[in-house]
Amino acid sequence: MNNESNQIIEHKAHGGKRIAVYPGSFDPVTMGHLDIIHRAARQFDTLVVAVLNNLSKKPLFSVEERVEQLKQVTADLPNVEIDSFRDLLANYIREREAHVIVRGIRSVTDFEYELQMASINRELNPDAETIFMMTNPRYSYLSSSMVKEIARFDGPVSDFVPPLIEQEMRVKFGHTSA
Ligand code: ADP
Repeated sequence: MNNESNQIIEHKAHGGKRIAVYPGSFDPVTMGHLDIIHRAARQFDTLVVAVLNNLSKKPLFSVEERVEQLKQVTADLPNVEIDSFRDLLANYIREREAHVIVRGIRSVTDFEYELQMASINRELNPDAETIFMMTNPRYSYLSSSMVKEIARFDGPVSDFVPPLIEQEMRVKFGHTSA
């Protein structure tokens, strides 16, 4: 049996539910991420937003804090679930019985990195398809690291992140008390 018919059988085995995973650091979640989440949630039965517990990065927010933030800012989206993982993405996808990995693309620079990741993930888990969503042009320049740099110096970030994140960054950077 070829790989394609295998996939069809597997989809049926899970009740035909289309589950996608949107993995990332989300340190913190920005309007760019949220835009992708809203658009991807319309395309699948369940969208799992999965915070990568990356031990080699020094994050501003802990994984638990990021999970909680994502839960709050997606509370209005009933088919969005928030989770975290520290395993290989290819294994996590299998564990969640998902078949789609969602990633966002802002620029040619993103594309090169994402193409490499998608190719590796295809090798590790041929059942999972990576799909790319083009950034909303309004947010094409927006990244978590840029937002953190502005917030560190108490600059205006209200156009870039939800109010909850703005407030929590002010607390982290000592510009206000909790
Ligand atoms: P990672 O460390 O996995 O790149 P990020 O949180 O930086 O985690 O990004 C997660 C995903 O969201 C990536 O696919 C990234 O390209 C995408 N993304 C980040 N910012 C934006 C944006 N402004 N518009 C569209 N996609 C974005």
